Amino acid sequence: MKEYVMGNGAIALGALKAGVNIACGYPGTPSSEIIETLAKRPHEGLHLEWSVNEKAALEVAAAAAYSGARALVTMKQVGLNVASDPLMSLAYVGVEGGMVIVSADDPGPISSQTEQDTRRFADFARIPVFDPASPEEAFEMIQDAFAYSEKYKTPVIFRPTTRVDHGYASVEASDTYVPKAYDGFQKDAGRFVIFPRLSYKNHGRMEERNVRIGEDFSSYKFNTVEGAASEKAVLASGISYMYAKEFLKDHPEVKLIRVATAYPLPESFLLKALDGVREVLCIEELSPYLEEQLLKLAGKHHLSVTVLGKLTSHVPAMGENSADGVAAILRDYLNISADPAVNDTTDLPELPVRPPVLCAGCPHRASFYAVKKAMAGEKTYYCGDIGCYTLGNSMPLDMVDTCLCMGAGVTMAQGFSHIDGDGKAFAFIGDSTFFASGITGVVNAVFNEADITICILDNSTTAMTGHQPHPGTGINLMGHDAGKISITKILEGIGLQKVVTVDPLDLDKAIATVKECAAIKGVKAIIFKSPCIAIEKSKKKCTVTESCINCKKCIRETGCPALTLADGKVVIDALLCTGCGLCRQVCPVNAIGGDEE
Ligand code: SF4
Ligand code: SF4
Repeated sequence: MKEYVMGNGAIALGALKAGVNIACGYPGTPSSEIIETLAKRPHEGLHLEWSVNEKAALEVAAAAAYSGARALVTMKQVGLNVASDPLMSLAYVGVEGGMVIVSADDPGPISSQTEQDTRRFADFARIPVFDPASPEEAFEMIQDAFAYSEKYKTPVIFRPTTRVDHGYASVEASDTYVPKAYDGFQKDAGRFVIFPRLSYKNHGRMEERNVRIGEDFSSYKFNTVEGAASEKAVLASGISYMYAKEFLKDHPEVKLIRVATAYPLPESFLLKALDGVREVLCIEELSPYLEEQLLKLAGKHHLSVTVLGKLTSHVPAMGENSADGVAAILRDYLNISADPAVNDTTDLPELPVRPPVLCAGCPHRASFYAVKKAMAGEKTYYCGDIGCYTLGNSMPLDMVDTCLCMGAGVTMAQGFSHIDGDGKAFAFIGDSTFFASGITGVVNAVFNEADITICILDNSTTAMTGHQPHPGTGINLMGHDAGKISITKILEGIGLQKVVTVDPLDLDKAIATVKECAAIKGVKAIIFKSPCIAIEKSKKKCTVTESCINCKKCIRETGCPALTLADGKVVIDALLCTGCGLCRQVCPVNAIGGDEE
C-alpha cells in the first residue's frame, strides 16, 4: 500500500518496516514528525516516548539495544550535543540489537542555533553515518542502517537535512507491523560496564571494524557513479546530490559521484570513481567534510587530482544549497552559459517580509511585559532560553539579553548575579525546557547562593516544535496518564526562597509579584501560568471603542500583531485577536472593550 508522506514520515515508516521495538526522542525542528508518525501507529511490541531530553532518550534506547531490540532515537543536530556524553561511550561499548540515532541537520540554519554538521560528530565518535538524499531514499536507507548496526554491533547515525525531512514522497507502507523478536539482556559485565582497560581494547576494535565497514560501504547501493568518464567530475551528498543530478541530466558527459555514507569513508569506491579524474568539485552543505576527506585520500594515495569546494570558495561556506544555487555553481565550474529564458524571476513580486513575532494573545507577551514594567528604571539582566519565548527579544518588548542553548538562561543569570551585585538577574525558561535542562541549573543556583529570579513561562506544552507533551502535561506518548509532575513541588523541594504562581494576563498582580520577588535576596521563582493560545483556542475578541484617543500606547508597548492601523487609527484585527485583554489593561483611557465570545 503506497502512502504519501513527509520525509520524516518516510523515516518512521522505514523504521517500522525494520521492526523497531522502541523509539525515543526529544522534539526539535526538523526532526519532530518522526516520533509523531510512529505515535499515530501504536501497536503491541513498540514502546514510544518523548524523553525529557536527548541524553535521556539515547540512554533509554541504549539499554533496549543492549537487550537485542531495535532502537530508534530522534533529535535535531544541537540535540546531539546534549546526547554526546552517552554517544561517545556507547560507540566504545557497542550494541546487540540495531540502534539508529537520527540527528537531523539544519542548513541555513532555519530553526537552530548552529550550522553544525552531524557527519563530523559521526567521525568524532567513530560511528557510521548514513546521508539520505530524498524522502524515498530515507525510507529504504533507514532499514539498511538498522541492518548495518546489527551486523557490526555499533550504533549508527542517520543524518537527514531539512529538505529531506520536510519533502514528500510515496513509500510502500504496511497495514501491520512486526516488531523484531529479541532475546533480552544477557548480563556480561566485561562488555557492558565501561572501564578504562575495556575502552582501550574497544578503541582498537572500533578502528579495525571501521576499516571493514568502509570496505562494505564501497559496494553500498547508494554510493554511486553516474555520467560518462570525464576529467572534470562532481562529487555530492545529501540533497545537494539531487540538485546536482537535476542539472547534470542535460550534461551526461560529466561524471557525478555520490557519497551516501560519509563515515567511514568508502575508500575503494572513491579510488575507483576518481580514476581518470583530474579535477573534482565537492558540493555539500554545512562543513566541507567530504572535501577534506578527498584531500586526505588524494594525499594518502598520491592521486593527481585537484579538489575544489568550500575550501576554495567554489561553494558557499555557509547556508543552505538550492537547486538554482547548485546550477549556478555547476555552470561556473563547467563553463556553461545560462539560458536567459530559463528561471527568469525578474518579473516576480518580492515576497512580503514576515518578521518572527510572538502570536497575538500569547501569554508570554504579558509575562515579559509584567517584568519589564516591574523592573522599569532598575539595572537588569534578562537571560532567555530556547523556545518560542526567545521571540521576547523583538521590539517593543526587548526582553531577552542572552540566549545560548537549552537551559543556559537559568545558569547564565547566576553568572551575572555573581559578577554584578547591583543588577537584578532574571532567567526566562519554558516549562518543557525546564524539564529538559533547567532543573540542574536551579540546583546549582541554590547550592552556590545566586541571587536570581527564575521566570517559568508555563504554557502547558512544548509549543515551538508542535505541542508535544512533557512531564508537566501528564499524558505520555503511550497515551497513559502518568500524572503531572509539579514544577512548584520540584522548586520547593530544591529549596528556593520563594515560589509563586501567577496568571500573566492579570497584569497588576503579575507586576506586583515580580516586584515582590525581585526584592528578596536568593533564588526565587515565578511560574507565569497560562495556556498556549494555540491549544486553548479562545473565541473572545477585544475591540477599540469610541473613547480611543489614538495615543498608540497599546501598539507601542505590547507589539501584539492583532493591533494594527486603519486610516491612521488603531484597530484590532478580529481574525487574530484572542481577547487576552493585555492591551485593555495597558490602555490609559480604558478605550478597549470586549473580550466576549
Ligand atoms: S486582546 Fe489585545 S493584546 Fe490580546 S490578542 Fe487581542 S489585540 Fe492582542
Ligand atoms: S492605548 Fe487605548 S487610547 Fe491609546 S491607541 Fe490604544 S486603544 Fe487607543
